[in-house]
Amino acid sequence: MTRAVLRCVPHTIRHAPEGGVTYEAFCVAEGCGAESGAHDEQEGPQDWALRHAGRTGHDLFRRVFTDHARVSRDT
Ligand SMILES: [Zn+2]
Repeated sequence: MTRAVLRCVPHTIRHAPEGGVTYEAFCVAEGCGAESGAHDEQEGPQDWALRHAGRTGHDLFRRVFTDHARVSRDT
């Protein structure tokens, strides 16, 4: 067995606005699996969900907002 010696170096993680935010919506109706795809603006998935609901009658969506974070070594 190989053993690694890990030193504990303090780091901090922060929201990184330069990485952007993505918005997605997923239809959770049984057997559907439709998804909006990733968008830079919240309106895209929202409009997609409204259109999908109008077409199919599916009315429950899982929404995902993804941001970026940067880790930096504490000094
Ligand atoms: Zn659906």
